[in-house]
Amino acid sequence: MILVNENYGKLEASYLFSDIAKRVKNYQQANPDKELIRLGIGDVTEPLPPACVAAMHKAVDELAERETFRGYGPEQGYDFLREAIARNDFQARGAEIAPDEIFVSDGAKCDTGNIQELFSTRITVAVSDPVYPVYVDTNVMAGRTGKCARGRYKKLVYLPCTTENNFIPSLPEQPVDLIYLCFPNNPTGATATRTELKKWVDYARENKALICFDAAYEAFIRDPEIPHSIYEIEGARDVAIEFRSFSKVAGFTGTRCAYTVVPKSLQGFTRSGEPVALHAMWNRRHSTKFNGVSYPVQRAAEAVYSPAGREQVRGLIDFYLANAAIVRETMLSLGYPVTGGENSPYIWIDAQRDSWKFFDRLLNRAGVVTTPGAGFGRCGRGFIRISAFNSRENVEKAMTRISKVLKR
Ligand code: PLP
Repeated sequence: MILVNENYGKLEASYLFSDIAKRVKNYQQANPDKELIRLGIGDVTEPLPPACVAAMHKAVDELAERETFRGYGPEQGYDFLREAIARNDFQARGAEIAPDEIFVSDGAKCDTGNIQELFSTRITVAVSDPVYPVYVDTNVMAGRTGKCARGRYKKLVYLPCTTENNFIPSLPEQPVDLIYLCFPNNPTGATATRTELKKWVDYARENKALICFDAAYEAFIRDPEIPHSIYEIEGARDVAIEFRSFSKVAGFTGTRCAYTVVPKSLQGFTRSGEPVALHAMWNRRHSTKFNGVSYPVQRAAEAVYSPAGREQVRGLIDFYLANAAIVRETMLSLGYPVTGGENSPYIWIDAQRDSWKFFDRLLNRAGVVTTPGAGFGRCGRGFIRISAFNSRENVEKAMTRISKVLKR
């Protein structure tokens, strides 16, 4: 008899996006002539930077010739990309990360989801609330969380992110072994200072814990005081894995390229306390279960670091940040406390009422789709997330409409 993994039955059905879709459909049926503006999505809208497109074209041409054709590549990524990443994203910031500590992949979603395979099902996992759901659901599937009751899994440790703590989680009150942190944060848009990150690195060092640091939105950081990588913090090499992605940096959500940094100094432990190198474990997992990212896509990712690529990527991010500033200022001027939107594409708005009611009001009266915070966790109730990923015209139009509705 083929028995199933019953942990899948513990997954809370995510009603968030299907609920949103249902409400949007109802609105469109009732208002067939009204144009809808979607500021709920986390997908980018602008095309690939020309430097990436040119590099991809050239790579495809190479594959068309016998002399330059390539078949299976190294699962961990081609040296040209690993070297460019190590040099530009880490060494240039004083973080000692070597090219062979970088594992190129097809997504930060997959990597943040798969990383937990390296750890025992007996460890205690901490996540922030609100949270990017992948960290939670993959631990549910693995059997680490227990059952869900009233929106919270019994064995997970939740770290509330609220107005009171500026959406930066406090250290847990009980011992935890694996901690997921995400800065700039999805959904709150909050960023962490050096001091705040150091607190977590020190905690992990003292408790032989591990930090999974999701920096998928790193490119949006403009404030020079905010660290881009956890490895800018002393001692982090021994206690942290970092996840990055080209998705939001360079519009690669459909093209697919990301990477994970697993330093060689990172250790896990057996039950008898023997240290085990996590780098070797991840290398084994990656080469066993992953085929590598295609050559043209890795060449396109490499082009992000070329002089033209850098300039184009900066322009792209500046464009979304200018959208974010418009949203942020509009909501503030209407009297709604906001966080994010300054070093992040997400603006987290204190709706001062039930998030679904606020969502409905913006949908039905302004024709604007947002994301209710309740979908990201209990602490998200009463908030909505607005995303800066849209055209300038749409963002401006949406803010004009929202202003009219909320001013009344
Ligand atoms: N991590 C966070 C916090 C995200 O919000 C997202 C995408 O929305 C991802 C990771 C996924 O990135 P990728 O497109 O590389 O899978």
